[in-house]
Amino acid sequence: MSEYDNFLPRPTMDGFLRRVDLRALKGLTEDEIKDAISSACDFFGIPFPAFVQDLSNFKFGRTMFVNIDPTSFGDDLLYYNMNELAQLHVGTAEAFSIIMSHEMAHRYLQGVRFEGPYNGSWQNELAADFLMACRAGLFGMSQINNVIEGLEKTQGSKSHPKGYLRANFIRHGLKIAQQIRNESRPVTMNDLLNEYGKHYQEMLSYVKKDEKEIYNLIERMRRYISE
Ligand SMILES: [Zn+2]
Repeated sequence: MSEYDNFLPRPTMDGFLRRVDLRALKGLTEDEIKDAISSACDFFGIPFPAFVQDLSNFKFGRTMFVNIDPTSFGDDLLYYNMNELAQLHVGTAEAFSIIMSHEMAHRYLQGVRFEGPYNGSWQNELAADFLMACRAGLFGMSQINNVIEGLEKTQGSKSHPKGYLRANFIRHGLKIAQQIRNESRPVTMNDLLNEYGKHYQEMLSYVKKDEKEIYNLIERMRRYISE
């Protein structure tokens, strides 16, 4: 311990890697960003979003798709925040495009009603994770491993399942993609969604257990606040 320890935050390896990722992300050109989004759209056969906004300079800016009319792909809004993505081990154009596949999956599924609490938010997220992994697996995008590593540590919330569950659906998507590649058979988005549905049923007891846990936690916090 030196006297400076009280003044200077200790640099960590993790923090260093985040800064490297962030610098790389901020170094992407406008064309690279556009290509990353547009190739993700192509996978789902949907048009480029009507509006794309970089929210990296906004403290509470999130990476998300905002839906206006669920019957139209023509009015979809997409926001991204490179600071948030760097926290998730995203540091290359390929990893950025993989994350964009998750957002484009939400766009593709905008008319689908999922079951479960909060408008089926968890199911929606797991489906987007699964389809993102299918694209990465089918097109040999190895940066999916960084994305798994980043997501696996996330805690989960009302809107998002715990990281281990998300990582599980991503790994399953990669496995299905590998099978399809091995058999070199043509595949449709409906085939992939059927595979997702099967896996969701297999994992249902974990989903329900976690849902209950998060519910109880939120309920306890609510009571604590109102007391
Ligand atoms: Zn999502």
